[in-house]
Amino acid sequence: MALLDYTLPTKGLAGCFIDGAWHWPASGEKLAVENPSRRSTICEVGRGTATEIDLAVAAAHRARHAWAARPAAERGAMLTELGNRLAANAEDVARILAAESGNAIRTQSRGEAMGAAGVLKYYGGVAGEQKGETLPFGPGLMSYSTREPLGVVGSIIPWNSPLQLGAVKISMALATGNCLVLKPAEDAPLAVLKLMELAADIFPPGVFNVVTGLGEEAGAALAAHPGISKISFTGSSEVGKLVAHSAADRIANVTLELGGKSPCVIFPDACTPERLDATAQGVVNAMRFARQGQSCTAGSRLFVHKSVWDDLMPLVAEKSAAMTVGDALDEDSDIGAVVNAERYGEICAYVAEAEAQGATFLTGETPKATDKGFHPIPTILTGLDNSWRIAREEVFGPVLVAIPWEDEADMIEQANDTHYGLAAFIFSHDLSTVVRMTRALDAGWVQVNQGGGQIPGMSYGGIKQSGMGSEYSIEGALEAYTFRKCVTVAL
Ligand code: NAD
Repeated sequence: MALLDYTLPTKGLAGCFIDGAWHWPASGEKLAVENPSRRSTICEVGRGTATEIDLAVAAAHRARHAWAARPAAERGAMLTELGNRLAANAEDVARILAAESGNAIRTQSRGEAMGAAGVLKYYGGVAGEQKGETLPFGPGLMSYSTREPLGVVGSIIPWNSPLQLGAVKISMALATGNCLVLKPAEDAPLAVLKLMELAADIFPPGVFNVVTGLGEEAGAALAAHPGISKISFTGSSEVGKLVAHSAADRIANVTLELGGKSPCVIFPDACTPERLDATAQGVVNAMRFARQGQSCTAGSRLFVHKSVWDDLMPLVAEKSAAMTVGDALDEDSDIGAVVNAERYGEICAYVAEAEAQGATFLTGETPKATDKGFHPIPTILTGLDNSWRIAREEVFGPVLVAIPWEDEADMIEQANDTHYGLAAFIFSHDLSTVVRMTRALDAGWVQVNQGGGQIPGMSYGGIKQSGMGSEYSIEGALEAYTFRKCVTVAL
């Protein structure tokens, strides 16, 4: 396979797009971006710092009044244009995404490129829905409200689905009349830089700025910047807390999309002979094995009713073990690579600890040290309970813990006994069971009889330490990226 079977962003390797132009960071320093399947450097991008964040925030401030004054339909048309350009370049963008993130081209990266285009087009279409209300105060008064942009938004995104999350942040900020400074993850900035290249001549200078750099440098500077009136962060709960502290110091608006340890609950009626195969596949999909388990919404704690354990679990193990693990750019790969050595090492440590404590492997193994690509195989552990570290913490790798249950109340207590509350999955075809369970589980997003991904238009976000606010929907954008201005006129 050729080493470079993708096209790098060209101007975008500067890593900073500020005020309508590409900039190398003032320091001249660079960051290497690596391909985790091949353990080779793809290229270097600029290592922006507080200096570039200052420049970008200043440019966004200069642009913001004219941008907010544009008719919403015009702002929407520009997002639609970007969505169309992304769709037209999807294969090129998907290949670079697979190379940098390790997410397999066939099962993940192509879908993400088209999904990101869909998000941009969705917000392009609904931008005009930024409506206010009129208040019936009687004949002597006219009172109404408008939805006003907050000003300059700072967005920080992780590496696990950088293009999709980048598209969500761009769309929500710009559709609602805000200007944006976006900081991509240092491990996977390239697909976002390609998107920025496609956007460069669409938006007026200063409206959409990108600064690449390290989290503790560019990211922290963005979160703490006094000119940022809203920070939208997607990443770990640990860093989310730092960002929230930073924003609290100046009472800035915050949206947090953080980690998860989501329950996946199996009822006996989902395992009848005719439903068994679909349920087993749903469990595998919910666990996001095809994304190396590196998904915030992974259904990584599986609660299976004892009566169907022996029917279901061998099939789940068989389907997981049959997935092809390999180079993310190889069309044969179902599963690609974990993003970097640090993440790979953490996954090894979690599984090794559970193995040492006596967990049983239904499939998989403790990943071994490697000098090749970071390719852990799907691993399913049982013989443990919900109190084990591997069942409580977000492993962010292809590791599923499976726990049998008999008593529904006890199972619900275990499922909710976590500081996370992002997603939940229920497999049952009994209406009463489904409604009872959707009410009982602490989660921002509950899926029933499927393990799919987010769809533009749904309000998506977590509770507890999984975050606050919601994204992907026009309601979420209005709540999180605008404020209500009330006007009262004496007639
Ligand atoms: P991370 O928190 O380490 O990094 C996320 C981003 O924050 C990166 O751009 C990083 O550079 C930046 N950052 C790091 N330190 C910072 C600091 N001190 N100040 C400001 N910014 C800083 O997360 P990650 O490892 O890149 O991503 C994985 C995590 O993201 C998982 O916990 C996953 O569950 C979560 N995630 C959540 C969602 C969601 O929608 N809820 C979606 C995707 C990923």
